Amino acid sequence: MIFGRLNMSFKLKIALGAVFIQMVTTAAALYVSVGFLKEYGEREIILRAETAVNLLSASAEEAILVNDYALLDSLTKSLSEHKEVAYARVKNEVGSTIAQNGKKEFLSVPFEADSRVSKAHDGSFDTYADLYSGNYYIGRIEVGIATGTYTRFISDTLREMFILAGIQICTTLIFAYLLAHILTRQIYRIADASARITAGELGVTIAADGNDELAAVSETFNAMSLSVQNSHERQQAILNDLEKAKKFAEEESAKIRAILETVVDAVVIIKQDGSITAFNPAAEKMFGYSEEELLGKSVNILMPHEAALSHQQRLDSFDFGKRSAVIGIIRDIEGVHSDGTHFPIEMAVSASMIDGEVYFTGVIRDTSERKKNELELINAKQAAEEASRAKTAFMAVMSHEIRTPMNVVIGMVDILKTDETDKNRLSKLESIAGAAENLMGILNDLLDLAKLDTGKMELENDNFDLREVFSVTADFFSYAAAEKGLNLYMFMDESVPEKVKGDRHRLRQILSNLIGNAVKFTPTGSITIKADAHAEDGETVLHVEVADTGIGISGENIERIFEEFTQADQSMSRKYGGSGLGLAICRRLVRMMGGDISAHSTPGKGSSFIFSVRFSAPDNIKQADSEPVAVRTANPSVLIAEDSEDNRNLIKMYTKSIPVKITFAEDGQDALDKYKSGRFHLVLMDRRMPVMSGDEAAEAIRTVQNLSGDRIPVFSFSANLPGETDFPQDLYDGHFSKPFKKKDLEDFLNSVFPDIVKTAEEEDLRISIDPDLADLVPAYITRKTEEIAEMRKAAENGDLEKAGFIAHSIKGTGASYGFEIITELGKAIEESAKAGDKNSVIRNISRLEDYTAKVRKILI
Ligand code: ADP
Repeated sequence: MIFGRLNMSFKLKIALGAVFIQMVTTAAALYVSVGFLKEYGEREIILRAETAVNLLSASAEEAILVNDYALLDSLTKSLSEHKEVAYARVKNEVGSTIAQNGKKEFLSVPFEADSRVSKAHDGSFDTYADLYSGNYYIGRIEVGIATGTYTRFISDTLREMFILAGIQICTTLIFAYLLAHILTRQIYRIADASARITAGELGVTIAADGNDELAAVSETFNAMSLSVQNSHERQQAILNDLEKAKKFAEEESAKIRAILETVVDAVVIIKQDGSITAFNPAAEKMFGYSEEELLGKSVNILMPHEAALSHQQRLDSFDFGKRSAVIGIIRDIEGVHSDGTHFPIEMAVSASMIDGEVYFTGVIRDTSERKKNELELINAKQAAEEASRAKTAFMAVMSHEIRTPMNVVIGMVDILKTDETDKNRLSKLESIAGAAENLMGILNDLLDLAKLDTGKMELENDNFDLREVFSVTADFFSYAAAEKGLNLYMFMDESVPEKVKGDRHRLRQILSNLIGNAVKFTPTGSITIKADAHAEDGETVLHVEVADTGIGISGENIERIFEEFTQADQSMSRKYGGSGLGLAICRRLVRMMGGDISAHSTPGKGSSFIFSVRFSAPDNIKQADSEPVAVRTANPSVLIAEDSEDNRNLIKMYTKSIPVKITFAEDGQDALDKYKSGRFHLVLMDRRMPVMSGDEAAEAIRTVQNLSGDRIPVFSFSANLPGETDFPQDLYDGHFSKPFKKKDLEDFLNSVFPDIVKTAEEEDLRISIDPDLADLVPAYITRKTEEIAEMRKAAENGDLEKAGFIAHSIKGTGASYGFEIITELGKAIEESAKAGDKNSVIRNISRLEDYTAKVRKILI
């Protein structure tokens, strides 16, 4: 477009455009009008010329014929008087002018007919008409019509039209300009607003009046302007954030740099290709290189050759998205100093992704010093452990060594007690027995502790009657409790099963300790034992609480009482005695049995000990025990190798009433010699003896037996020193443990020699003691004897209720300890007491007294 290239305003372009269109249309109109005018004028002139010629011809014809020249003159004169007639001329038949009138300037011009008005250059349209009279040519009429008027009219009209066209164009220009101004006003506003926006102004809006397209454009513009403002504000916010982030990053980077500069640990940052990108001063000091030396170099230079190879492989195969075995883990490896020395380091590696590239940061610590210290510590620990082991072994051996003579003391005192009738001496003997039992308890605790310390404590895993363990243990303490005037309650929940599989002795040991402590530390009130159980993973979890109303334990001591050799209150310990080992052993046993123990107490109000232990389900099918050794003979002969004279004496006394022939040997060699020269049914071999050890002697005896083919049983005979319960099975047929009581020895001999005839008396007494409870029997019988005496007193005083109450308790435990008759008589007394039959009560009490006296005689 022409206007497009012109440097003018849009308004002007619109105006000029409109003018241009106006000019074109006006020019076209002018052109058409001029053409029309010209044609109209021409036709008018031609019509007038023809009219003039015709008028003149009609009048002149006669005049010519009669040669009336005057008429012709007047005719031409009157015709030429018409304004538009230029001239009128009449010629005769020879062509001579006979009359003419008109404007001089036209008369002088020779006649030349014009075919078209436009060809009449002389200012007159010349035409003619030939006149005939009949067939005779008489002359010619020539008329000229002046074209001046016509051309003037044309030019006037044209001028006016041009003026009009000019006015029109100007008007068009003005209106077009005004219209364009109105139309473009909004566009200018938009342009202006755009310019302001371009100049940086925000939120510029323009008025959007009306509802035409421009208003719509304005609204769109306003929306766009606001959107630009919004996005500018957003951008500004982003820029601010970016600025802040940049500042933060710079600060952080400065901080990190500062940390890297000052941190004691070496920090090495590498890329995935192993090239070093940062190496802090601590690293420089540790490895002996400067950062400039190492930047861009492979980190492999800092590690031994073999480690470098695998390190590079690990780097190559590292995948940022996957877990890596080395990331986040502290590893002990070796570093290489610039001088080639290797030194131990500890390194933690983290991986980070920056701009799609993986970086590894290794934080390294030189562990040379620590390793040295560790080694020293390990050595010191080993030495300490060695010392501790030696101490434990010493403790074990000592307690074992003391137990053997202690056993003799107890045994001897027992025997003396049986024979003693003098009350004064009997009470002294009882004091000795009590003190000896006490000491034995401490020795047993020490031995248990030694076993636990050395991991030699092994738990039995046999079926047993759980409820019975509770009733027997509680019963054991019932006497002591009653003596102090304490009530001993026991609540067994139905959930507690009859039979379980586990270690009954250890459960009894734990219970005894807790109940014993409760009795010991409770001056008045009661002791309550509660037990319930639940099944878990096919096992029985037993919960037990032993609560008392005793002196209690202070909060600060409650945690300590489970520690070894710890007593809550030293002053109390003097009063109550004890070694402070019981609860420590209990806790370790309970934990071995899959549970735990805790204590709660309020000083002055009482304590409660709660523990849980796990037992397996009992075996339904009776397990085929290994065939017990049994030698069928009515006159057994036993060789006992025992270096302790005390023990030999004790055995002699214990077996006085048993039909067994005993031969003693004092060491291994003596045993071997005696074995070769004698005839025995059983050998009991102490394993620790001078000259030749029991094991050596047993081995020699086995060789002799192999030669003779006479394989009599050889039993090991030793104390349960840690590790000694596992006697060599190939060497011995079984084991008899020390220390032992009379009953133990009798039971043992009875089991090996089932044909030893029991005394008729024993048979009558229907005694069948569970070997596990054998050591509790003497105290039991003593307690029952005292209870029976109390019962007699009550019965004689007529207090049948009390007598019945005591009988009830006696009835409950007799059979459990192996004395069925005690239970039967207890039941009879209880029933008679209920029925108020005093005679029957006293009669049965007498029978009970007889029975217990006989039992005492045989068993104690
Ligand atoms: P000890 O042989 O001294 O009784 P224990 O380990 O069995 O050793 O007990 C440690 C200490 O815990 C006791 O000396 C006593 O101070 C405290 N203790 C234990 N049971 C009770 C209890 N039922 N009431 C009060 N104090 C108790």
